[in-house]
Amino acid sequence: MSHLVADAHADILWQMEQKGGEFYGSSDLQASAQKLAMGGVRAQVFALYVSPEESPDTQLHHVMRQLDLFYDQIVGPVGVVAVSSWSDFFLAEQAGQLAGLLSIEGAGCLQGDPAILRALWRLGVRGIGFTWNWANDLADGCLEPRNGGLTTLGRVLLAEVDRLPMWMDIAHLSDAGVKDVLTLTSGPIMASHANCRSVYPHPRNLTDEVIRELIIRQGWLGLVFEGNFVAGHPQSDIQDLLRHLDYVLKLGGDDIVGFGSDFDGASHLLKGLEDASAYRKLAEILVERYGKSLAEKVLFNNFRGFLRRVLPDR
Ligand SMILES: [Zn+2]
Repeated sequence: MSHLVADAHADILWQMEQKGGEFYGSSDLQASAQKLAMGGVRAQVFALYVSPEESPDTQLHHVMRQLDLFYDQIVGPVGVVAVSSWSDFFLAEQAGQLAGLLSIEGAGCLQGDPAILRALWRLGVRGIGFTWNWANDLADGCLEPRNGGLTTLGRVLLAEVDRLPMWMDIAHLSDAGVKDVLTLTSGPIMASHANCRSVYPHPRNLTDEVIRELIIRQGWLGLVFEGNFVAGHPQSDIQDLLRHLDYVLKLGGDDIVGFGSDFDGASHLLKGLEDASAYRKLAEILVERYGKSLAEKVLFNNFRGFLRRVLPDR
């Protein structure tokens, strides 16, 4: 019996844009259509990632190209449904199709201009992380040693994010930036692909304090399959990942936790979780370990609930 799965982060579009890969057919992508289907994935957030080393103009160009790939090559009548509202999601669910959502990872492409954010929202983008690992004009990323928070421009953009609305993704943000976001907005906050710092101390992982805030605010946390954040070595495996899941559950996160694999973007995927088809095996392990009801929440229902709270009705 296969279980439904939601995945809040994969770099499929970046891979396709950089390497020209196909989504359908016998594809090399770790999260190709075929592998997603084998894994039972019915909701996938497609990240719009561009190297922050590119100029802002070039970043915007890449984002537009990735949006075009999504609508031109991925969305289709028998494949992926483009989801920008709850009614889109509902239709995809009824049809048994994959719900595809779009989220920005690193907002250099915005050039600090709310007009560009609004235009991207109209093109279906429903989530945004302000930074990748480094600083940009909106905020510091989690690997900036000075640990700055949101800039003045970042605060202006955050107000626009709230107004639209869309979700704020704090996965790559600095601790000070996360604190600013938590202070400045009461809007939806999630971490699409991050783990627990108490289990493994990496700046990409979240502190207990932040995880508790996500729980209180009915946000969401997607555990990531990157070995460097799970246990700090390339041999990390599913058991190491489950220590993070156990920890979030211990903190009371059974309604807000799920997965954001980082397929097609991670540098060291966990042993046994090398591509999206492996969700099938992970699902079996979760059912065995936690029982069917909790396993289904973690695999799919929690993210579904988050989307229900965040997406506009239509
Ligand atoms: Zn990332």
